Amino acid sequence: MTIDDAPREALRGGPRELLRWVATGAAVSRADLSRLSGLSPSTVSQRVEALINQGLLEEAGAGQSRGGRRPRQLAVPTGGAVVGAIDLGAHHARIGTLDLSGRVVQARTLPVRIEDGPETVLGALLAEVTALASGGGAVSSGGADGASLASGGGAAGALRGVGIGIPGPVQHSTGRIVSPSRMPGWNGFDVAAFCADRVDVPVIVDNDANLMALGAHRTAHAEMDHAVYIKAGTGIGSGVISSGQLHRGAQGSAGDISHCRVVADPAPLCSCGNAGCLEAVASGAALVTALREQGVPVDDLTGVLRLIDDGDRHATALARQAGRAIGEILAVVVNFFNPQVVAIGGRLADCEPLLASMRATLYERCLPLATQTLLIERVATSQDIGITGAAHLVIDHVVAPA
Ligand SMILES: [Zn+2]
Repeated sequence: MTIDDAPREALRGGPRELLRWVATGAAVSRADLSRLSGLSPSTVSQRVEALINQGLLEEAGAGQSRGGRRPRQLAVPTGGAVVGAIDLGAHHARIGTLDLSGRVVQARTLPVRIEDGPETVLGALLAEVTALASGGGAVSSGGADGASLASGGGAAGALRGVGIGIPGPVQHSTGRIVSPSRMPGWNGFDVAAFCADRVDVPVIVDNDANLMALGAHRTAHAEMDHAVYIKAGTGIGSGVISSGQLHRGAQGSAGDISHCRVVADPAPLCSCGNAGCLEAVASGAALVTALREQGVPVDDLTGVLRLIDDGDRHATALARQAGRAIGEILAVVVNFFNPQVVAIGGRLADCEPLLASMRATLYERCLPLATQTLLIERVATSQDIGITGAAHLVIDHVVAPA
């Protein structure tokens, strides 16, 4: 269940990169790949043959001749092989199948009750994903909430692996969930082993912030080596890209900023037992709690965002406070890590007052050298960014297994 990411240098012209160049249209022939990678034609040919033998590349007819024999064109097989992806949230899961270039073939959103426990929730979602991969049908009857096909068809293909994002800490080496704050009954659950018993392909498990980071990096910032992605929704977390690779740290907890302490008076108590944690001040769940304590009736994060849109002063003040708290922690991260881009995603990324105060705090607290060329962006809001990241985890594993 582990992928030991090789150093970036070793990946220049590696199988993953060759596949990506063909998938994105940057290369259509072996000659293109040789030019882009700087590798010799014979090395490229060897790697291409291996990818063709794995069913990850195919030859798609002859290209333009430049005088000699017409070169054979390369393509990523469409509809031949797919990866399954599950992006689990507190109330919904986005599931889908994606082709080996990371493009969404089909996707749907399903309602989940996380409190039903891991066996029920994951068992149902795995069944849905394998049903999608085998022909596009749904297992559940009438349970799909806003189920949608991202693209018409529903090309069935051989399932090559499944990537799963969990909205809580995941120990990377074992695929186990460790002390999640809003997932009763999930602590210690071995997601990887549970899934391995049910599907006959590799299953890779990671936390949702890492999947968002990987999905956003591969689709928007693939040329940038150092990036930080904040996921701010019901909970709060971040994913770190270092030297082009997802950086997980020793146990898989790198980027987990939820229990970093911020200045807040009074400092609200956190589910971890400490006071003043970022999650207790700036997460969507914290905003709901704080508003209720002020006597403002609000059901959930959707209600909070609506109040902010309507200019409610309590909600707006809390959003600004949350933005400052996120900016405070992010400033430490930026000073320490010196990324090229910091991007914020999740449902709170659409909240203007939060974004504005986060940005202001970040500039105020960072060294000029660290922010001189720093891009501060929103993660392109796509509901498929998590399943895209999950698919890339699997594709990387399939193309270059550890
Ligand atoms: Zn805490």
